[in-house]
Amino acid sequence: MPFLDPKYQKAAEIRVKRRPKQLAVINQGGCTGCQVCIDFCPVDCIELVPGPDPDNPSVHKLVEVDLPRCIGCTLCAKYCPWETIEMFSFEDAYEIAPEWTLEAVVEKQWEREPVQEEEVKPRRRDRAKRAAKAKAEKE
Ligand code: SF4
Ligand code: SF4
Repeated sequence: MPFLDPKYQKAAEIRVKRRPKQLAVINQGGCTGCQVCIDFCPVDCIELVPGPDPDNPSVHKLVEVDLPRCIGCTLCAKYCPWETIEMFSFEDAYEIAPEWTLEAVVEKQWEREPVQEEEVKPRRRDRAKRAAKAKAEKE
């Protein structure tokens, strides 16, 4: 059950008239799905979403902020035990949020991985091959 503090009620009501200066964005690459942030959000705008494996969506569920409802109070960023929530300006948050989904984070890590087959260990080589194959299929 989310922690609803009446002192934030007014802020939630005027949300439609005024833009918050900042919004919370969750870096899903560091999210453990512990749900602590959900309990602290005064406007209940952090949602539980399926995990990254489409075959097992209930495994490692993650969270994301519904940006149009966020009032920028910073409580989630303050209390996330894994420090994986950051506050951004209104405009930047909408730009950064899609890049910080687990899918996007993993893809970026793969892109940065140097593909030097003779030097890498077999497991990492397989991973690099899979990343290269996935990239080629996309193009
Ligand atoms: S508190 Fe942090 S680690 Fe826990 S679910 Fe929220 S964002 Fe993820
Ligand atoms: S900053 Fe975090 S706790 Fe506050 S409204 Fe936005 S998502 Fe909820």
